[in-house]
Amino acid sequence: MGRANCDEFAMGSSNENSAFGPVQHPFLEGYVPGGSSGGSAAAAAAGFCHVALGSDTGGSIRQPAAFCGLYGLKPTYGRVSRYGLIAYASSFDQIGPIAPVLEDLIAVYQVIAGWDEKDPTTATEAVEPYQRKAPPKRWALLMPTGVSGAVADLIQARLQNLSAQGIAVEPVDFPYWDYLIPTYYILTTAEASSNLARYDGVRYGYRTPHAHTLAELYARSRSEGFGREVKRRILLGTFVLSAGYAEAYYTQAQKVRGLLYRFTEELWERYDLLVLPTSATPPFRLGEKTADPIQMYLSDLLTVYANLTGHPAPPNPYRPNPRRSTCRPPGDGASLRRKSPI
Ligand code: GLN
Repeated sequence: MGRANCDEFAMGSSNENSAFGPVQHPFLEGYVPGGSSGGSAAAAAAGFCHVALGSDTGGSIRQPAAFCGLYGLKPTYGRVSRYGLIAYASSFDQIGPIAPVLEDLIAVYQVIAGWDEKDPTTATEAVEPYQRKAPPKRWALLMPTGVSGAVADLIQARLQNLSAQGIAVEPVDFPYWDYLIPTYYILTTAEASSNLARYDGVRYGYRTPHAHTLAELYARSRSEGFGREVKRRILLGTFVLSAGYAEAYYTQAQKVRGLLYRFTEELWERYDLLVLPTSATPPFRLGEKTADPIQMYLSDLLTVYANLTGHPAPPNPYRPNPRRSTCRPPGDGASLRRKSPI
């Protein structure tokens, strides 16, 4: 067992918000491994472990798994207990596995899924044993404009593969692309600002050695303990919940969340699967987006949808030879294995 690097409080899309420094992509020098669970994905891709766990509030399992060429599964909200997980946005967070081999991903998922008396939001339905079934018939493709050429080409290749298997994927008009990121960031920062209130230097978290009064203890512990991005989100979340603004931002965003849920329920009447790319771009360079938080936030466009509605977001198991993921270290991977701390 090992511990992996993660963006501070799982806030990030590139692993550059970690207090321990950024994780490097295991095979692409100078590139990010994705985030926030980038340490988990890098470890699994480098062969340090068979399976790693990540937490997915808005893509942090799927996006680093995709960037490192692995399988990542965000379970349905409530399927896996959040007991022991440090909360970021409680109505979004889910734990799930990341692995290079599909069977390993499924094996770990089956163990961690299920009801837990310590998390009242877990579902009580029994976890069905996994069976490989024939692919469902009705597939829908949701693609925004602005997806990079490399990703669009890959999706086209996958669609051709599916059509060779007799599966037609129907493009669907999704009218809410522009709402996903604002809704996600209003609601998750609101929940985070509340969840992180417990880090007061008294009961939880870092405590400053420099305080003389109680007020100073709170203020300094939080100022010194939290990183820049976490502070930005606490401020944003406090703002959208504040008297006079809550109606305009928080309540409005909750309504949009309801709208998205109802729209998706309607889609389920017509389709069995919704297909989306995980990321609109391939892995980007370290430092490429750190100066512009909005650009960084926009990189979550395709993943936050599943967390807003609570739906599961599994990898595509119906591709040819799904057993192993396609990503391999250059050469035989021996140099990476030698670097393994295990
Ligand atoms: N990148 C998203 C964010 O920063 C998702 C993070 C996550 O899923 N933990 O909020």
